[in-house]
Amino acid sequence: MRVDCLIVGAGIAGTVLADHLIKAGKKVMILDDSALPNSSRVAGGLYNPITGRKMVKTWNGDALFDYLIPYYKGLESDLSAKFLYDVPIYRPFFSIEEQNEWMAKSAESFYAPYVKEVKTRPQWPDEVQNPHGGLLLDKSGYLDTATFLDSYREKLRQEGQLIEERFNSDLLVKKETAWRYGAIECEQLIFCDGRLALENSFFSWLPFNLVKGELLFLKTNVMPRVIYNRGVFVIPLGNGMCKCGSTYDHTDLNEIPTKKARNELLERVKKLINFDFEIVHQKAGVRPATRDRKPFIGEHPKEKGMWIFNGLGTKGVSLAPYYARQLVRHMDGKGSLDDEVNIERFFSLF
Ligand SMILES: Cc1cc2nc3c(=O)[nH]c(=O)nc-3n(C[C@H](O)[C@H](O)[C@H](O)COP(=O)(O)OP(=O)(O)OC[C@H]3O[C@@H](n4cnc5c(N)ncnc54)[C@H](O)[C@@H]3O)c2cc1C
Repeated sequence: MRVDCLIVGAGIAGTVLADHLIKAGKKVMILDDSALPNSSRVAGGLYNPITGRKMVKTWNGDALFDYLIPYYKGLESDLSAKFLYDVPIYRPFFSIEEQNEWMAKSAESFYAPYVKEVKTRPQWPDEVQNPHGGLLLDKSGYLDTATFLDSYREKLRQEGQLIEERFNSDLLVKKETAWRYGAIECEQLIFCDGRLALENSFFSWLPFNLVKGELLFLKTNVMPRVIYNRGVFVIPLGNGMCKCGSTYDHTDLNEIPTKKARNELLERVKKLINFDFEIVHQKAGVRPATRDRKPFIGEHPKEKGMWIFNGLGTKGVSLAPYYARQLVRHMDGKGSLDDEVNIERFFSLF
């Protein structure tokens, strides 16, 4: 069988890229082994325009956020499924000084589109600790990543575009202007293999900086009205459930939940929320993060027609749509990749 593109990996990266390629008229096949680690299924799924302890606008935020919400909403209607939840994030202030700072910043055109309201008095005391008020964000929410991936996977399955097995590089043969993998011949082979890129001899030279993360599922009688986020996030999922995360660990790189992370999350969540809960589940995953915290996108330095779309780190939900669109245009000769994401910046390491 001949296709234009063969994608390895159906996490957020591979799925969103496949969708863009198909919409650009390409014949696509995607190869994914669901027994392998998948960070996307573990993810909190947050899209948050203003992040970090210092509360700064996400890198390239305007470009990413203008596209991601209409993109996922459009996919919801394509797939007749619900996975994008447009929920404000509320970030309690640490101090009156921080409150004052945000009163000023919220009027600046740089931040204004992302600020729903600056709360100068404590809100919702049965839900959250916020003696100095807090910042209520706009253009924020979360993607239910499991429903999103399952819905798209089902579409691929029905259309005969999914091979559910592990990619084995011994089966890959280079032809003159194409790649042959088993019975498939493709012009472009694109790796979206997440943290397993480090076991992929074609791209393991790239400076990944993997980060393990864990989260807890909490059962509660309270239905939080927004997503709370300070040191830890608490996402209301409905049915008395919340998702709470996450941790950052650069050493213990596996998918096994730990007591240490559970205790760390518990300690932090108790400083944020004011309601009782019971922990019913815990999950761990490894983020495909990179040394300079920017994605790894581009064509292999030696192997023509072999590409990578990876390194989405802590922000797969917000980075994937914008950069999938950019990569597809670039592959079609209709535009270039941003220097900050193009793997050419690391060609000296190859
Ligand atoms: C605890 C935690 C919380 C997070 N929270 C957020 C959040 O709130 N918001 C956010 O945007 N991001 C978050 N992330 C980060 C997010 O999960 C990643 O950015 C994103 O999932 C990366 O997607 P990916 O497709 O590159 O990798 P993955 O999701 O890991 O997908 C890789 C896929 O490739 C497949 N694969 C790999 N090798 C092979 C092979 N040889 N053959 C066949 N298939 C293969 C795997 O089976 C897998 O399906 C979080 C991550 C963690 C761990």
